Amino acid sequence: MPIVEVAISVPLHKTFDYQCDQEVAVGARVKVPFGAKKVIGIALANKDKSNFNKLKSVEMVLDETAILDKPILDFLFWAAKYYHHPIGEVLLAAMPKNLRIGKPAIIKKMIGLPVKTSKPDFEITQEQSLAIDTILEKRDTYHGFLLHGVTGSGKTEVYLRITQEVLNQGKQVLVLVPEIGLTPQMISRFERRLKTRVVAIHSQLNETQKLDAYLMAKNTEAGVVLGTRSAIFAPMPNLGLIIIDEEHDGSFKQQSSFRYSARDLSFIRAKQTNIPLILGTATPALETLKNAMDNKLTRLTLANRAGGVMMPKVSLIDMRSNSENGHSALSKLLIEKMQQHLSKGKQVMLFINRRGYAPVFFCTECAWKSECSHCNASMIYHRHVNRLKCHHCGDEKMPEQSCPDCGEQSLEVYGYGTERLEETLSSYFSEMPIIRIDRDTTRRKKALAEHLEKINSGEPCIIVGTQMLAKGHDFSNLAMVGILDVDGGFLSTNFRATEYLAQLLIQVSGRAGRTGDQGEVVIQTRYPDHPMFHYVLSNRYTQFASGLLKQRKSAMMPPFSHQALLCANAKNKQNSEDFLREVAGLLKSVNMDGVEIWGPVTNSIEKKADYYYFNLYLQSHDRAALHRMLATFNQHVDTIKLKNKVRWYLDVDPID
Ligand code: ADP
Ligand code: ZN
Ligand code: ZN
Repeated sequence: MPIVEVAISVPLHKTFDYQCDQEVAVGARVKVPFGAKKVIGIALANKDKSNFNKLKSVEMVLDETAILDKPILDFLFWAAKYYHHPIGEVLLAAMPKNLRIGKPAIIKKMIGLPVKTSKPDFEITQEQSLAIDTILEKRDTYHGFLLHGVTGSGKTEVYLRITQEVLNQGKQVLVLVPEIGLTPQMISRFERRLKTRVVAIHSQLNETQKLDAYLMAKNTEAGVVLGTRSAIFAPMPNLGLIIIDEEHDGSFKQQSSFRYSARDLSFIRAKQTNIPLILGTATPALETLKNAMDNKLTRLTLANRAGGVMMPKVSLIDMRSNSENGHSALSKLLIEKMQQHLSKGKQVMLFINRRGYAPVFFCTECAWKSECSHCNASMIYHRHVNRLKCHHCGDEKMPEQSCPDCGEQSLEVYGYGTERLEETLSSYFSEMPIIRIDRDTTRRKKALAEHLEKINSGEPCIIVGTQMLAKGHDFSNLAMVGILDVDGGFLSTNFRATEYLAQLLIQVSGRAGRTGDQGEVVIQTRYPDHPMFHYVLSNRYTQFASGLLKQRKSAMMPPFSHQALLCANAKNKQNSEDFLREVAGLLKSVNMDGVEIWGPVTNSIEKKADYYYFNLYLQSHDRAALHRMLATFNQHVDTIKLKNKVRWYLDVDPID
């Protein structure tokens, strides 16, 4: 009987052979017995011989033709190898859940074509036109571009025009954006302009919608696929262009199980498909800047905002002298400036990167502080529910009435989160609508869309938001942005912290004054002399980033070297550390050629949800050497006995 080789979603670096009474299309799904269960797998090859005896039989062949066709399979094989992740897990993770669980590959509801498209009422600028022409010259080959345009410079307009040309050739375009919140806005911009089906792929769709979008991409009914990171795996047989918008954004990296970077993988997909790739941003990642310096990307610059709009005026407020009681969130000066803009009928946004009411609940008598009993982290007070919540493990409890240590009734909150900021603002601006956007106010599906709709109506209001609001949004009546409490970024131990902070400040600032009069940005800080501000104030990101690149080069840090992280965690602290010690021993015994090993060291948050986390870092200036070591590690890791349920994972090119 013929034999099929099947990939199954298990954490093992191998595939499995089954007997089958028919040939199966490579890339089709099969249902097979595995242990005591029946699972869905992907057929990888038909063969006549197996190295194993007593093969079980395929129970059912689910697809007549491939779900994962050859180009996608090649791409996923590449990804599995690069991230040293089990192939079965990679293949199945790349499909929507309904296919993973064996549902038929049938479109339930075809989405319609856009009803009405319109042309823009402006001429493109010379910079835009140059970028468009340069990219289109390479439309039939692999070529990477960095579209480096300041916020509001009309990058999206460039994407739209190039996309139209690529569609005219009968090809498809894949657009990745960082946040779910940005997809509706992007979708409507694409739908308004392009006479093609635009489908979305992101986590807020239901499973039927996800499957439909996937299948419309696969059967080429969709001309444009627009999605968050997992859309990089969308099957698109006529793919002609990939666009990664806000390429610097950390959300392109998946931070659990299969830890891929959709941005990095886009290079491979474009190369394998032989098509152009555009990475667009106002604040390129240092990796991307280095790629441009090394001529792996052609850099195209949009130095000015479109339509003659000026960049916002950025200023600092020194919180050492301007906060009345030492820890008030809002300086008088900031309130005054807000008043000025609001009285002119404009909108103002305050950015604070912490949700909840207050980050500290403590005793004024003995300095006791509420901490999560499962994590090394403070409990955050949430006032509307009167609960203390841990943002790491989700644990919550009622706040104590009196101090558990000294018994005094002297418990107070300290610091500000979005909820408290909203409350404080309503005391200053009682008449003004306040729209708070954070994970707590957008948990309900559609809630974010409703908030954004209110903002887009243009009515004067105050917007309070976290990271969710930092990027991409185009609010036309927003005149002023206030940035509170970013100083934590200066104290972080992550070597990327200042890079991220500069990107964040510039992105948040970029929301201000995108049409009409010059916008204003005010940053409150206790470190006004920090050299980073020197660049942020004058909007010279590139100079700042070049300085950071020099530092990274002399320290041989990424992107001048390559890293991998092995993270172990266990309920027993010693077991977790011991495991990594053994791993370090194993790694040191293999041929080391130029790979440095550090650790094990405790994670910056040592305990999370009762598990103790330790990290082992591998670094090399030679990527190939690092990957040889990781491959050897995977072959031998089974020789290390896992004591008492130590869990571990490997993260290639970690970012945190
Ligand atoms: P970015 O993506 O670079 O932040 P957008 O593409 O959102 O910028 O453009 C900002 C605004 O400028 C949008 O409202 C857009 O319609 C408008 N715009 C784009 N190109 C031009 C142009 N050449 N002339 C006038 N307005 C433009
Ligand atoms: Zn006390
Ligand atoms: Zn916790």
